[in-house]
Amino acid sequence: METAEIIAVGNELLSGDVQDTNTHWLCRQITGLGGQVGRTAMILDDAPGITAEVRGALARRSRLILTVGGLGPTADDVTVAAVAEAANRPLALSEAALAMVQAAYDRFTRQGFVEDAAMTESRRKMAMLPTGAEPLDNPVGAAPGVLLQVDRCTIVSLPGVPDELKGIFGGALRPTLRRIFGSGAFAERVFVADCGDESVLGPVLAEVAAKHPDAYIKSRPQRFGPDVRIRILVSARGISAEAALRSLERAASHTRQALESRGIRLVPDP
Ligand code: ATP
Ligand code: MG
Repeated sequence: METAEIIAVGNELLSGDVQDTNTHWLCRQITGLGGQVGRTAMILDDAPGITAEVRGALARRSRLILTVGGLGPTADDVTVAAVAEAANRPLALSEAALAMVQAAYDRFTRQGFVEDAAMTESRRKMAMLPTGAEPLDNPVGAAPGVLLQVDRCTIVSLPGVPDELKGIFGGALRPTLRRIFGSGAFAERVFVADCGDESVLGPVLAEVAAKHPDAYIKSRPQRFGPDVRIRILVSARGISAEAALRSLERAASHTRQALESRGIRLVPDP
């Protein structure tokens, strides 16, 4: 299975001003593609810190590294320079990126969002990419995403604004995601057990899980109490949607049998 790491960058995340919803959204997307997020980090807008984090992810042989945030025109947006440093690919002007930034400011001017579409030093900054990197069209904002291949690892830098990140992930990044994850897929089902004691369910679920290495079975307690029931998640990955669903069916029906044979009934999650 291909592993990914996500590095969310932004002082506003660590001060608690902004909640890091991008990492959560990306985790769901990667899982849905059949991939596995192996690690996430939340770090300051600090170039040496970002460089160290990206180097760590490269050393861990991640297949995909996603950085989030810090692509903008201001001096405190240092992510791309830090990625360039980590990959030993000095920043250089990308004509393709410059054309994207110009097109974005032309659009903003027509829409009346900015007064002047002229290229300035701070706007040009968003077209400075690591040598050999490819810009990814941003359908919402000005800063293109950045795609950089380093041996087997693909490093993608995405903007922090959620709509921009989603626009690039669902648009220009699609072919790359297909290349990495193929037609991999993920399927999940949630049950509720009429049992409030996880210590009773645990050994049964462990016994079932040992027989289904392609599936993941987990109980999710909420609290103790007389009316508490426990949610059980069964999920599986496969090389296609059909394969994932087949594995899920096998693991889910075995889970049901094993619990029912001990007098614990499973009902679908309401
Ligand atoms: P832009 O090109 O628009 O300047 P950027 O990459 O520089 O984008 P940031 O300055 O890092 O983006 O973040 C812009 C805004 O996006 C933040 O003020 C915050 O509201 C939101 N944001 C940033 N990171 C996250 C995150 N991880 N989760 C949710 N929202 C975020
Ligand atoms: Mg920022």
